[in-house]
Amino acid sequence: MYDRSMPFEATIKWIKKETRDTFTSALKINSREIQRAYRFIPGQFNMLYVPGVGEVPISISSSPLDHDLMHTVRVAGEVTTVLSGLRAGDVIGMRGPFGRGWPLEEAEDFDLLIVAGGIGIAPLRSVARHILKTHASKKRDAHPRRMLLYGAKTPKDIVFRDEFPRYRDLVEVLLTVDRADPEEYWRGETGLVTKLFDRLSIDPLCTIVFMCGPEIMMQTSVRELIVRGVPEERIFISLERNMNCGVGLCGHCFFGPKFVCKDGPVFRFSEIGGIMGIKEL
Ligand SMILES: Cc1cc2nc3c(=O)[nH]c(=O)nc-3n(C[C@H](O)[C@H](O)[C@H](O)COP(=O)(O)OP(=O)(O)OC[C@H]3O[C@@H](n4cnc5c(N)ncnc54)[C@H](O)[C@@H]3O)c2cc1C
Repeated sequence: MYDRSMPFEATIKWIKKETRDTFTSALKINSREIQRAYRFIPGQFNMLYVPGVGEVPISISSSPLDHDLMHTVRVAGEVTTVLSGLRAGDVIGMRGPFGRGWPLEEAEDFDLLIVAGGIGIAPLRSVARHILKTHASKKRDAHPRRMLLYGAKTPKDIVFRDEFPRYRDLVEVLLTVDRADPEEYWRGETGLVTKLFDRLSIDPLCTIVFMCGPEIMMQTSVRELIVRGVPEERIFISLERNMNCGVGLCGHCFFGPKFVCKDGPVFRFSEIGGIMGIKEL
């Protein structure tokens, strides 16, 4: 019987290299019974287990309506390095899905501003693909607006770069890089992702924000958005902490009184702003 806290087997269907250090892999759950019972919402994550090496939390980067269950991984250490070397047909362990995802229903009534930095685009790509699948009949100029701002270190580090043009009918996409690569023609913005806020003219009272990226980027972006009048209650951020169990037992991912694994990873900023210390910035 399917128990999301117990490991089950999944086979790698395909692997795609996204950038020099990031790849996407599609997994197929081996058991038919678990395949049928398995459900997730954008923003949730799975624990991926490489036998003999270890287990890591990784966000689901596909939409629940996608045919393939995808994860997009940046190589950080031992487990992610071994994962990056696996091939189609290899079998890994998996537990999940875990955590609280993005509040998609609440977002329906607002303009949605997605703000991503680096590999933080992974759980937000799940949202963008979901919008494409569920709103295919609506035009981009229809309300509510859907906007995606994404910052990467250099043009070569932009994950899903070949995919963004497909979003443009429904989502306004703006990209920025910390530094343009002299070897590559770059037409987008250069500078922090917050620089892109000026290009959008958002209506703060009608906007809801989903954000994921390096914590310093989120702190700066949240502060800017609050200054522009977006209420803290409508800013949602996804946090990363080292974690072991994924179900709120081991205490590795304590964040003040919260567990990132079960109370998050997506938090309403008004719930945790004090703990992040952003209010004092
Ligand atoms: C809810 C959640 C979702 C995540 N989603 C993704 C994703 O979609 N794609 C992705 O590439 N990564 C994601 N991560 C981060 C990923 O889990 C870590 O990069 C991974 O655990 C590193 O394992 P490793 O064995 O390769 O490296 P390790 O040798 O364990 O670590 C390498 C370095 O990364 C740091 N690190 C390890 N785990 C974390 C962590 N959880 N948070 C912050 N720093 C960490 C370590 O302190 C060390 O400095 C997510 C983390 C969480 C908590």
